[in-house]
Parts: sequence; C-alpha cells; structure tokens
Amino acid sequence: MSKIESRKITDNCLSIVVPCYNEEEMLPTTVDVLTGLIDEMISDGRVSERSFVLFVNDGSKDRTLPMLREFAKNRSHVCFVTLSANRGHQSALIAGLMEAKKYADMMISIDADLQDDVNVIPDMVDKYLNGADIVYGVRSGRKSDSFFKRTTAQMFYKLLALMGVKTVYNHADFRLMSRRAVEALSEYREKNLYIRGIIPQLGFITDEVSYERKARTAGESKYPFRKMLALALNGITSFSTKPLQMITSIGIIVLVTCFIAAVYAFVSYFTNDVERGWTSLILSIWFLGGVQLLSLGVIGEYIGKIYAEVKNRPLYFIEDSDMSSADGTDRD
Ligand code: UDP
Ligand code: MG
Repeated sequence: MSKIESRKITDNCLSIVVPCYNEEEMLPTTVDVLTGLIDEMISDGRVSERSFVLFVNDGSKDRTLPMLREFAKNRSHVCFVTLSANRGHQSALIAGLMEAKKYADMMISIDADLQDDVNVIPDMVDKYLNGADIVYGVRSGRKSDSFFKRTTAQMFYKLLALMGVKTVYNHADFRLMSRRAVEALSEYREKNLYIRGIIPQLGFITDEVSYERKARTAGESKYPFRKMLALALNGITSFSTKPLQMITSIGIIVLVTCFIAAVYAFVSYFTNDVERGWTSLILSIWFLGGVQLLSLGVIGEYIGKIYAEVKNRPLYFIEDSDMSSADGTDRD
C-alpha cells in the first residue's frame, strides 16, 4: 500500500499546536479562529472529527492558564498542556508536538498571536493529503516587521548560510508536519533546540505555501532583542563548527605574516640601525602568536568532533521499503 493510499484510510486527524506565553489578550480570538477553522475543515471532509487545537502554556504569569482550563472544558476541539515553568518558545513547541503526535496524523505549529495567515492552513492540509510530509509556511515579504527586525533577521539568515547551515528563507515556525516527520524530529535529543535548522535535515517529501505575515493585533512581542540574539547564537552554534575552524585559518594567516615579518626584520637588521633585541623580540611575538592560534585551532577541530558525537543525531530515516521478499528470514 502506498503512503498516499494509507492516508486515505487513517482518519486524518489534525492537531494545531500553539505555544502560549502570557497571551491572555490574544487567547479568546485565537480559540475562536482556530476552532472555527477546524469546524470548517471537518465539514468539508478534509480532517477528522477528532481534530483539535493543542495550546501549550509555557509557564505564563498572567491568566492564560485559567483561561485555557475554561476553554478546554467548554469548547469542543480545544486541548491544552501546561509546562511547569517558562521554557521558551522552541521547547514549548517541541512539548506540544510530542504530545500531539500521540493522537494526530498531522500537526501544524502556529504562534498564538495569529500573525501567520490561518487561511493557508487548508492548503497545507491539502498538500499533506497529496503526500507531503512537511509543508513550510513561507512569508512572501516582511512588510509587517519593523525596519530593525527586518534587517537583523535578513542579516542573520545570510550569516547562517555563510556558516553552512541550511534553512528555509523567510520561514519561521509556521509549518505542517506528518506524524512520521515529528517522530523523526523526536530522534534529535539535543537540548539546544533550533527546530528551524533541524527540519530541513529530516528529508522526506516537502512542499511550501506562501502567505503575507500580519502585525500582532493584541499583546506585545515575547521575543525582545535579547531573546532574538540568543536564538540566533543558538542557531549558529548548534549547526556549525565553522567558528572553531576559523581559529585555524587565523593561525595560518598569522604564521604566514610571521615569515614575511622575518624577512623584513632580517633586512632591517643588516641595513638599518635597529635597536638591539628588536628583531628577536618581534619575531618571537609573531611566531608564538601563530603557533598558539594554530594549536587552539587543532584543539577546536577535536572539540567540533566531540560536539557532533555528543549531540548523537540520527544518521538516517527510512522513508519507504518493501521487505516482502525477506519474509520469514528476520533473525531478531
Ligand atoms: N512564546 C512562548 N514562550 C516564550 C516566548 C514566546 O511560548 O518564552 C510564544 C508566544 O506566546 C507566541 C510565540 O511563542 O505564541 C511567538 O512569540 P511572539 O509572537 O511574541 O514572537 P514574535 O512574533 O514577536 O517573533
Ligand atoms: Mg508574533
């Protein structure tokens, strides 16, 4: 049976996963919009009646949690989990996805402020039904961002590309994932999670929908510059050991400079009236500097290797197989 046929048999349960941190102003609208959308998609037969919105309360300090309890009790298709403390957006998102995959066949992650266009959600589901495992929501522009956020974000993506990290340009965390893609994600056991960097590594069949991102309508951004910078640094250091390799390059440059300086110092020694001791002093400084940087670089190479091993990332995922001819020979 092909994967797409099997999708016709499962009842296509959708879970929309929404991390929330102090979102009391936004929550009533978010519940209305998302449950309305689920109702629509149930009635046009896209998703099963079991589909639900899963709110993840990320240790909010306002009324988010009591409100979620009420909604879960009184409204259909509303579920929630609450974390014991504020763990940050990426951890809250993972918590939600891991919980949702126990029940759902596909999961869509979206922020509580609904800045991402919910109208493309049915398109995402259609792409899933056509066989995609991961459907990225990609912003067609960044008009709604402040000039500062726009330029810093673009600089960050360029820097990531320079460091050899694969990301989807203008995509944040608005995406659909099939259950097996989320299972694959769960194999990444690292603690410094930069989900946007991991997803493109998973492989599987991917697709995109594009949309216009709106400005926040209620509440304020929970991503101040400090958190954005931390996310950016995490993105680079979780995926690239290039900064370590740069030390080696600098060491080599310094040593080459040292040899040029040596020629200059020797010529000066014989032709000009230089201070006694200057030649040996200047050469030692350059030479030792170069050797030290190069040694640090070598240590860095090993640390890079240890880092990769410690993260213990999965080597592969099997996408499809036909083992019928091997029937009965499984020795396990
Ligand atoms: N969020 C979270 N934990 C945090 C910070 C933010 O769960 O520590 C949630 C927040 O409630 C929202 C999403 O992450 O649903 C994105 O946050 P926000 O909209 O403030 O970020 P921005 O759109 O400004 O980048
Ligand atoms: Mg937002």
